[in-house]
Amino acid sequence: MTEVRQVKNFIDGEYRVSSSTFELPDPATSQLVAIVHEASADDVDDAVTAARRALNGPWARMSMADRHELMRKACDLILSRKDEFVAAEIADSGHPISAVSNIEIPRGAQQLRAFADIASGHYEPETFETQTPDGRQAHNYTQRVPKGVIAAICPWNLPLIMATWKLAPALAWGNTVVLKPSEETPSTASMLGKIFNEAGFPAGVINIVNGFGMDSTGEFLTRHPDVDAINFTGETVTGTAIMQAAAVGIRDVSLELGGKNAAIILDDCNLDAAVAGTAASVFYNCGQICLGTERVYVSRSIFDEFVAQLKRRAEGQILGDPRLPDTTMGPLVSHEHREKVLQCYRRAATEGAEVITGGGVPEMEDDLARGAWIQPTIWTGLPENSRSVREEIFGPCCHVVPIDDDEAAIELANDTRYGLAATVWSADTKRARTLAERLNAGVCWINGWMIRDLRTPFGGFGESGIGREGGAHAMEFHTELKNICQVLDPPADS
Ligand code: NAD
Repeated sequence: MTEVRQVKNFIDGEYRVSSSTFELPDPATSQLVAIVHEASADDVDDAVTAARRALNGPWARMSMADRHELMRKACDLILSRKDEFVAAEIADSGHPISAVSNIEIPRGAQQLRAFADIASGHYEPETFETQTPDGRQAHNYTQRVPKGVIAAICPWNLPLIMATWKLAPALAWGNTVVLKPSEETPSTASMLGKIFNEAGFPAGVINIVNGFGMDSTGEFLTRHPDVDAINFTGETVTGTAIMQAAAVGIRDVSLELGGKNAAIILDDCNLDAAVAGTAASVFYNCGQICLGTERVYVSRSIFDEFVAQLKRRAEGQILGDPRLPDTTMGPLVSHEHREKVLQCYRRAATEGAEVITGGGVPEMEDDLARGAWIQPTIWTGLPENSRSVREEIFGPCCHVVPIDDDEAAIELANDTRYGLAATVWSADTKRARTLAERLNAGVCWINGWMIRDLRTPFGGFGESGIGREGGAHAMEFHTELKNICQVLDPPADS
């Protein structure tokens, strides 16, 4: 019997309980794993007030170098408690230990170090010498100052990675933060409170509040008038609500939203690599990844072979206890999300899909029989205008379509209102680059998937979002840019 964790709010450097709580089940077994304390409007107000106080007080007085040292220390502290973080992440999310231990927790920690390094690299102010109308000289230069109190709102699909992806750039450029993790997966974010205290962050710099979205913690936070900007990752429909909330008070938003990403597999590709890469992009994290592939366009001459090999990969997934090292696919995050994905599976059948594999719920044994399991699924034969091809599903599934030439591939891949990610598989560098450069997506991989250099820009076209995170691009959102114009008197040339 695993211990039931208490997930409390972290406000002004202290953990705080709430009179309102909710239960969190393990998605693999439905067993109770945590009691979450829901932050009230007053709790959110206290968190924002603490963040403002820290912004104007101890955090502002600290040098950039000292702030970055604290971030590096926090990174090391997470890594020193990796096992605790791994256990909590698996219990909340159901992700397999291989991914959580090798990727999610290390990367979640290292983002704090990476953004400390990126921000401390340099900022080169712009300078201009200007002739004034009365014949004098003025010296202009730019200065970047922190944006202020940032509200950061996260989804459930990569809990610690998403939390530090929001926290790290905000802190690196001198802001203070109120973070709301998803109500489905709040544990590892909440554990960060202790880490930040031990690292030596002043109280109030980071606050973590738990709860739901609409009419709850999320909305209390986005509607709080003393929040300066909102950094959100989640569904496009939620992004719309958040943008509306941000309009009051003219607050800035960074929105990382949904996708319906395409892969283009060309006849000259390395087929084994293309199948392996596409399988990873469809089935990794049980398909719950914004950068995952749900539409696959394959040259007709290799279509049958590609589908056969992808089917083998789907059927080779090892669904099982996420705590076992051989497991490659865990459950979906919740029964509610499984119901949504199953509805999409049923809809695909009615829209005319040929089900190559999957399409339902797998048989699981013992405790796992109560989990939110789903079969990896491949379809062919759907109309391009069907909802299955146009709407994000966020499950381990894809639709595979034969294409006759590169023009058709581009046209179909770009026929979406989203534009987050895409992949092209081809041995011909020029051909692959020509396609990648014409795809309307924030990130295009050629002969690979999910290679993430944190210095690169990250964000989407169209309904996939607004703004770019990653590297120095995150500075744009997290700082205000000022022009200081000093008139030189007496005239510079006298
Ligand atoms: P979601 O939009 O349902 O919830 C995200 C967060 O917003 C949660 O913390 C939720 O409590 C909060 N929220 C919901 N309604 C709110 C409101 N009215 N006001 C304030 N907060 C509110 O998304 P999800 O289901 O948690 O995550 C899955 C989605 O996230 C998918 O669409 C996926 O594509 C997207 N996603 C995008 C990226 C990216 O970088 N573009 C990364 C990961 C996930």
